[in-house]
Amino acid sequence: MKLLEYQAKALFDKYSVPIQRGVVIDSPEGTEERINAGALRFPVVIKAQVQTGGRGKAGGVKFAESPAEAAKLCRAMLGMDIRGFKVNEVLALEKKEIKSEWYLSIMLDRYSKAPLLIFSPRGGMDIEETAGTNPEGIAKVPLDPLRGIQDYYISYVMDKTGADRQYRAQLKETAEKLYRLFFDYYAMLVEINPLAVDEQGLLCALDGKVEIDDNALPFLPDIAACRDKLQEDPQVVEARRVNFLFIPIEETGNIGVMSNGSGMLMSCIDLISQRGMKVHAALDLGGGATSDRIAEAVRIMLSRPRIDTVFICVFGGITRCDEVAGGACMAMKKAGAAGKRLILRMEGTNKERAAELVASSGLPITVAEGIPNSVEAIYEYHN
Ligand code: ADP
Ligand code: MG
Repeated sequence: MKLLEYQAKALFDKYSVPIQRGVVIDSPEGTEERINAGALRFPVVIKAQVQTGGRGKAGGVKFAESPAEAAKLCRAMLGMDIRGFKVNEVLALEKKEIKSEWYLSIMLDRYSKAPLLIFSPRGGMDIEETAGTNPEGIAKVPLDPLRGIQDYYISYVMDKTGADRQYRAQLKETAEKLYRLFFDYYAMLVEINPLAVDEQGLLCALDGKVEIDDNALPFLPDIAACRDKLQEDPQVVEARRVNFLFIPIEETGNIGVMSNGSGMLMSCIDLISQRGMKVHAALDLGGGATSDRIAEAVRIMLSRPRIDTVFICVFGGITRCDEVAGGACMAMKKAGAAGKRLILRMEGTNKERAAELVASSGLPITVAEGIPNSVEAIYEYHN
């Protein structure tokens, strides 16, 4: 789960990583009063709160000289679309005089199987460009999870990138706090970009990104509560409630793919895409699904109006094929699904019984042999 900037900064604050206090505004009414109530010094910066970076370049970070101008910017930004996310909240903060913009993050790195510390004294909006044109300007070091941030890690990243050593103690302290947060909150990523060096020579987090492992949310009620403020797809929420993983894919697609395992899901999506068709969404059933659960999964899929074809591909070991077929029939009957088709590919336990069940149901369900044949069946239905 990706937190919004102000949610990430609230966590930074909890760990005493220096941040600026700001005002969160979630409606266009009384904006000027609320900015005034925040007693901010002008100029201020108005920032769109969306779960994506690159806001500066997309018009989601703007400066204002007066309360009236700030209020106008807030009203213009609320409701705006920033890289596919609707702006429901904006954050107003004082504009800081900055000497330099640094980059500091800790991410879970699958390659080194460790938390990876990344630092650059050339942070800010062009960090991706720096990575391409000036890779020496960015230093990475895998952390020993039991030792956390050691002095020599900090010396190494600063020396390698030519950062001013006078900020060494401050950088170490900030990195330590960030690491504690990373560890305590089961984070996949904590990032400060920019970590500003201000006119007084103090470091301050001007932006914040925190990504938490969804599997840890049961232990983190404060983070789970943040979820209400995020824009979540209704079917993702619905599916999660019953322990399915629903993955929206292409808005303009009209095929829904379901399987018991993410690898098989991806193979199905690849083959369907190669045949020139678009998958709208995928759903991972997990293991051992019963007919009731299959019926619920198909119902969730069919509640997306764009979906006209549902492809279920299961390898039936613990998940029995007849349970799958029974659930599929149940859902199709209930949906009274006019103009909808279900393609079913099953392999494994009770496969024959499953095929009989479908054949005797008289429902618009096609049983196909193997994934390539299933893809052809989907193609035929569509053309
Ligand atoms: P994003 O990473 O989504 O583009 P940032 O919060 O990093 O958004 O803001 C983009 C840029 O705006 C920063 O690199 C910095 O130059 C400037 N900026 C952001 N907040 C402030 C602030 N409080 N004071 C001065 N400049 C800021
Ligand atoms: Mg940023």
